[in-house]
Amino acid sequence: MKQHLWINGEKVESTNYYQLKSPYSEELLADVATATEENVKAAILAAENAFSTWRETPAFQRAEILENLVSLLKEQREECAKIIAQEAAKPLKTARAEVDRTIMTYLFAAQEARRIHGETIPLDAAPGGENRVTYTVREPIGVIAAITPFNFPMNLVAHKVGPALAAGNTVVLKPASQTPLSAYKIAELLHEAGLPKGVLNVVTGSGRVVGDVLMKDDRVKMITFTGSPEVGKHIRENAGLKRVTLELGSNSALIIDENTDIDAIIPRVVTGAFSFQGQVCISIQRIYVHQSLFEKFVDAFTRETAKLKIGDPLDETTDLSAMISLGDVDRAKSWIEDAVGNGATLAYGNETDKGVLKPTILLNVPSTEKISCQEVFAPVVHVNTFNDFSEALEKVNDSEYGLQAGVYTSNLQRAFQAVKQLHVGGVMINDIPTFRVDHMPYGGVKLSGMGREGIKYAIEEMTEIKLVSFKL
Ligand code: NAP
Repeated sequence: MKQHLWINGEKVESTNYYQLKSPYSEELLADVATATEENVKAAILAAENAFSTWRETPAFQRAEILENLVSLLKEQREECAKIIAQEAAKPLKTARAEVDRTIMTYLFAAQEARRIHGETIPLDAAPGGENRVTYTVREPIGVIAAITPFNFPMNLVAHKVGPALAAGNTVVLKPASQTPLSAYKIAELLHEAGLPKGVLNVVTGSGRVVGDVLMKDDRVKMITFTGSPEVGKHIRENAGLKRVTLELGSNSALIIDENTDIDAIIPRVVTGAFSFQGQVCISIQRIYVHQSLFEKFVDAFTRETAKLKIGDPLDETTDLSAMISLGDVDRAKSWIEDAVGNGATLAYGNETDKGVLKPTILLNVPSTEKISCQEVFAPVVHVNTFNDFSEALEKVNDSEYGLQAGVYTSNLQRAFQAVKQLHVGGVMINDIPTFRVDHMPYGGVKLSGMGREGIKYAIEEMTEIKLVSFKL
């Protein structure tokens, strides 16, 4: 199959195509278009031309198109899940969950499209402000460039395309090179749902080439990026005065305080650590467990992890499959070996089979090890201990990242202490950090990024406030 670009509501051929292969089976999935600079510029032009009409399209019509997309996604749930499973090696049951979340995200976008509003401001609160009727309106920003990662190829596209369209913006979307098919699928479905030509354009190819054109072009008013901190920083430094939101990585931590019911939390901890091979931005990477529970926790955690079924992502029973690339397997392996060389204990895993890295549990890892202080983005977790709760909070905060943190504790005082002291975008009390529903404000501090997603919050980022004042 040849996957062409999607520009101005049409499939557009490119001069070059790359081979997209399944990370698990290495089967050829498609020849995917590599956009040239001219292709990207054509996509920006199409988005710019479509903007003047789309911004004037009434909210109820924008909402209806998004609702039509929701219906189409429900009908084609299985096909969409299969696309994700193949291109990302995401186990089918996890891929289905992603499609279900994508449906929710577009549903929220349709709902939010109907309630974008400003506020009335009592200007007479200041001397000189008397005798005026003053209010704000939220206006779309224009052409938005959306750059997305491989790990939630459908739902993270939805988190950008959904709010952008709801607010009356037009979009040039650059999906990750390993996961373009789910993005093209959305473009086709949106077209079928009634989206006018040029409102959404999809261009694939080298992140650097496409990204550079998007960053340099003045017609692009905003870049919304989800991906690694390295690329995020590069975008921030080169985007000039464009608005930028960055949803970046993390090395998320979980605290397990004394008196926690270990048996009750274990299945959830295993899910948070190893879902989609740990390639989730809020995957549990660091676990700090109270000294008194260490042995019990490690024993139960290891036993439950050993039950995970490893294999073909298209197999209904698979829990864990190949990582996104062999290079990432090698990187994770070398970090594990460094940690073990520097005093950590290997409790489970560290075996590979082609693209698969078996879930791996390390104990007592020095905080200076890459496997602890950098984002591993692999099925590797480490368990360290603490004696004093404040010490556990300090360990969580001892990170360049700050996306979300989880704290299991039955002590209310400590729960509020954690809420106050943890420097992250979201604190989950009595849950793992790997928690997200799609309308909550989501985003990080420090190297984990800037700005928030979660439809309503993304719409705030993707609109401009205009003040209107009538002098009476
Ligand atoms: P990545 O390598 O940074 O790639 C993300 C996107 O950026 C891809 O579309 C990539 O294109 C593109 N890109 C690469 N170089 C670029 C450049 N110079 N200019 C502009 N765009 C460029 O990240 P990934 O490996 O796909 O995803 C994993 C990362 O995403 C992890 O760090 C994870 O934590 C983070 N993430 C964060 C969140 C969140 O909400 N905070 C959610 C999910 C993932 P190519 O594929 O063509 O290189």
